[in-house]
Amino acid sequence: MENIKILKGFKPRLAGMPDISVIQAEAPETIAVPAMDIPYIRPRLLVKENDLVKTGTPLFCDKRNNCIVYTSPGTGIVKQIVFGKRRRLKEVVIALDKKDDFIRFETLPRDSINTIPKSKIVKLLQEGGLWQSFREFPFKDTAGENRRPPMIIVSLNGNDPFSPHPEVVLENNKDYFEFGIKLLKRFSEQIIITSRKSSLEKLNKFKNHITHIVPDFYPAWDPGVVLYYLKKFPAENHSWCISVQHLILVAKFLLTGIYPVKRIITVTRPNNKKPHVVTRQGAPVKDLVGSLDDNLFITTGRFNGRAVGRESHMGFFENTLALIPDNQKEVLFGFIQPGLTKPTASRTFLSCLTRAPKTLDCNLHGEERACINCGYCTNICPNDLAPSFIMKALSSDDIEDALSYGLLDCCRCGLCSYACPSKIELTEILSHGMDAHYKDKE
Ligand code: SF4
Ligand code: SF4
Repeated sequence: MENIKILKGFKPRLAGMPDISVIQAEAPETIAVPAMDIPYIRPRLLVKENDLVKTGTPLFCDKRNNCIVYTSPGTGIVKQIVFGKRRRLKEVVIALDKKDDFIRFETLPRDSINTIPKSKIVKLLQEGGLWQSFREFPFKDTAGENRRPPMIIVSLNGNDPFSPHPEVVLENNKDYFEFGIKLLKRFSEQIIITSRKSSLEKLNKFKNHITHIVPDFYPAWDPGVVLYYLKKFPAENHSWCISVQHLILVAKFLLTGIYPVKRIITVTRPNNKKPHVVTRQGAPVKDLVGSLDDNLFITTGRFNGRAVGRESHMGFFENTLALIPDNQKEVLFGFIQPGLTKPTASRTFLSCLTRAPKTLDCNLHGEERACINCGYCTNICPNDLAPSFIMKALSSDDIEDALSYGLLDCCRCGLCSYACPSKIELTEILSHGMDAHYKDKE
């Protein structure tokens, strides 16, 4: 096991870390497959309202490659197809039957994993709606089926400070996890499995598989950060990544021939240690958050998630729900107060001297202002980027300059936006820059 030395990131302890107890959520009445959390997808619907669907029926595919399908995580009737602006597909909602009727897919004999043609594995995963679990850098788009990635990174810790604990995710899944690793070895010679330092002590049974340890501050375990520190050759910029939860789902699907619908998520809110919740893929947000004050903002990631309403559903790639106080009250002379409980990236408040966990809220403390060249965004960026320089290059439409400053190394962790005292949405600006560059290359 190697330690990866990462020095920058969000270091204060956050209040509300979920404990590792697990509860089973009640069976939902509806589930959905949202298209909004799927990067770059151009969805083509394969069902219409009132169609009957089984668990595993394709609901929509990606027009760019019709073989990439998103399948129904439940049996029932298509209740609603929700569109957003310009008729962009938002989600396909299914009213669930009491019992699942699974589509039976072909299974992979356990001992054939080293001999079966790779193309066959890809085809099975595409049919089952799980190939897209593999994401390809630098854009984190669906992995190219004909590529041989120089490296595949598996993060045991998700992509949020409060992602499900690997001990909970791996519980009773050791076999599937090990089969998943054998599967990855068919695709690449270099398999990197990372764990947060603090998670290690509870992962004794898996220590042999962990190749790298990362520090315990956000986003050191993000595959984009791990890749930045490990890559040695330009070709490695096209490595792949997969989350541990998806790796287990992929292995389960191949061995059982049925689409696995169970997901483990965390629901965190201030002053409430919510445990992990076992639910179904696409569960309704309202079932997971329960009764809610109006002043809580719901997002699927603390620094970089999708803002969701109570009527939305959890996406294919989402496994955290953060309920963050949306208090926009301005504090008179807030900057000269000691701020003993305020999280601070710039060490402005005395809270930087205490180890007490800090609670984040959505307060912007004023409106967006011009960049003051303070350098806080650079000081916090885990991948050594200068986000303000990239932003300026992008705002003058100089994509070449932005690329030379390392735009494609951005892992969209959201920390630069968080740290910016001028409240500039740097992550969003960089993200749009990457997306525009991606579309130009298409
Ligand atoms: S530029 Fe911002 S979003 Fe991108 S990696 Fe750095 S801190 Fe994260
Ligand atoms: S943190 Fe904000 S204000 Fe400071 S240099 Fe970066 S973009 Fe400019």
